[in-house]
Amino acid sequence: ALTLAACGGGGAGSGTGASAGSSESAKPADITVGVAMPTKTSERWIADGNNVKAGLEKAGYKVDLQYANDDIPTQSQQIDQMITKGDKLLIIAAIDGTALTSQLSAAASAGVKVISYDRLIRGSKDVDFYVSFDNYKVGVQQGTSLLTGLGLKNADGSEGTAAGPFNVELFAGSLDDNNAKFFWDGAYDTIKPYIDSGKIVVKSGQTTIDKAATLRWDQETAQKRMENLLTSTYNSGAKVDGVLSPYDGISRGIITALQNAGYGGSGTKMPVITGQDAEIASVKLINDGVQYSTIFKDTRKLADEVVTAASAIVEGKEPEANDTKSYNNGVKVVPSYLLESQVVTKDNVKSALVDTGYYTQAKVDAGK
Ligand code: BGC
Repeated sequence: ALTLAACGGGGAGSGTGASAGSSESAKPADITVGVAMPTKTSERWIADGNNVKAGLEKAGYKVDLQYANDDIPTQSQQIDQMITKGDKLLIIAAIDGTALTSQLSAAASAGVKVISYDRLIRGSKDVDFYVSFDNYKVGVQQGTSLLTGLGLKNADGSEGTAAGPFNVELFAGSLDDNNAKFFWDGAYDTIKPYIDSGKIVVKSGQTTIDKAATLRWDQETAQKRMENLLTSTYNSGAKVDGVLSPYDGISRGIITALQNAGYGGSGTKMPVITGQDAEIASVKLINDGVQYSTIFKDTRKLADEVVTAASAIVEGKEPEANDTKSYNNGVKVVPSYLLESQVVTKDNVKSALVDTGYYTQAKVDAGK
């Protein structure tokens, strides 16, 4: 059973923590929850941090929220300190999902439970629960929207009338983030039949995740790679028709490279470009017809879900999982709660993002 040391539970590793020995049930007000977020350079993590903090505080907990500037040693240190300070529960969105094994084993010996947030922590048995979106499905949505944008599929899922062949280049996320492979697999499985039939041509030949990866999901790294692709592969008249991008920041790097090469100017239209996270700058690019799609993941719902799971753990209960098979972290299958994501194009910016209160119309119009 998942019980905190303060609950006097007999879970593995309990009993050595500073707070062990109490037979009373832990009260929220006595509990500090450590929340470790990767970076403030991407809006979604700022929203995640704020929402998780607000939700936990509303439920009565104290919150220790830290951002690590996308630096792995900084995040490890922050987590070490959370454990030393006596935080009772950790919610972690890892930078490198494989780099936290020793922190997690220290947490377990101190009776501190760990929820992996959005990104699965790998290589450790001490991950108690995982809350995320259905990451493979996010990839399928990215791949599908690329096909729809190109006219290879219709909005209702039926085959489109476009014949191609279309030149498409592929980008993936950061390989140390467990999600990157799920997004890639979902997207690649979706477009592969079109590559096989010749309707999609990856002219650079870079069709593996290793070639397509973008370390730390970095915008400038993506811009550089797109520039290199344009010089190496599209220097004699061939045009890029589509780019599979796993994240809005990466998409903006790709867009800058394309615009610098004249795309979107007179006579050359922008390729169909995907994304993820519905970042406000990218929502504007979608409204302006520069980016084709993004995937909206409602971080408010993810925050709600993690607060529910945290409360269950504090009460000594198992958090409710809706998936107990997809997320093997290399050591064990981590019980998970997965949320649904949604494709957003120009057609549904208002209904998906404004009508749901995620953004105001003014913010969407301003793009910031
Ligand atoms: C998240 C995505 C995000 C990416 C870059 C992934 O782990 O699931 O929502 O776009 O990291 O921050």
